[in-house]
Amino acid sequence: MLVDLKRQPKTAFLRDCHSQPLQQALMDLETAFSNFFAKRAKYPRFKSRKVTPHSLRFPQGVTVINDRTISVPKIGLMQAVIHRPLQGIAKSATIKQDATGTWWVVFVCHIDRPDTLLTVDQPVGIDVGLESFTTLSTGEKTAPPKFYRRSQKKLARAQRKLSRAQKGSKNRLKARKRVAKIHQKISNQRADWLHKHALGMVQRFDVVCIEDLTIKGLARTKLAKSFSDAALSTFMQRLQEKAEWHGRRVMKVGRFYASSKTCHSCQTKTALTLADRIWTCHTCGTTHDCDVNAAINIVHEGIRLLAVGTTESQNAAGDGVNPAKCW
Ligand SMILES: [Zn+2]
Repeated sequence: MLVDLKRQPKTAFLRDCHSQPLQQALMDLETAFSNFFAKRAKYPRFKSRKVTPHSLRFPQGVTVINDRTISVPKIGLMQAVIHRPLQGIAKSATIKQDATGTWWVVFVCHIDRPDTLLTVDQPVGIDVGLESFTTLSTGEKTAPPKFYRRSQKKLARAQRKLSRAQKGSKNRLKARKRVAKIHQKISNQRADWLHKHALGMVQRFDVVCIEDLTIKGLARTKLAKSFSDAALSTFMQRLQEKAEWHGRRVMKVGRFYASSKTCHSCQTKTALTLADRIWTCHTCGTTHDCDVNAAINIVHEGIRLLAVGTTESQNAAGDGVNPAKCW
């Protein structure tokens, strides 16, 4: 059909484009539909060529010439700012525009990574939450960053300007770009923070145990979404990627494990509400910080599950094994 479309006058603009990005777009469409039919995604949205942001992908042929030039098939040499050298073998290049109008080239590269040996010298348990983004079993707490709130005033001002600008005017276009830029800054700050926070975890600890968030998220739907569930699940993704990259391990602990209401020193369960940030165990008298206690329980459970998974102690698998997933 593509060949035919190129011949018809109404869609002749397709001839201006290199053939591979066109084929690639069709393959992407196929993926989108397979995902839709497999109920993994929503129905694909129509993307008009007139609507920004634009994007196209070359499976091959885009090369970096020097530190300020790239070569793109059918377009030729283009000026570019190359923020870091390419590593490994470039597999594809996606050229895309963001909401602020800036064009980007993103390379996917294949890199061989040396094998690293897993030891369990430094395990850690992480309890995630809204009051403190992460609480470690070492007692360390990290507050959720407030990037959005910090830019809220600026954003409100820019949005006001946008709504006052006359439709179709140049000033409106400028105002829209300004709003997009603020949004982009917030999301860049958030992404950067999450990358660094996750990297810090796998650099310091070799086994990272964390609660299964997909399930925890459901239980929490009524709570505020200040730093939002999106950030938590992105954090999990980053953690997984960085763990794989550095030869570390992420252990997911299932929800049946009552991490917050079990006393980590005597294993007694106490009835608690979410408001009980600090509580005392009635059996052994230990006073717990709710989050730290949960993190300690999570690391104990994660290590137990890790041991159950190894061949040396298969027999330990009998007692109340949780369906925890190990990435
Ligand atoms: Zn106790």
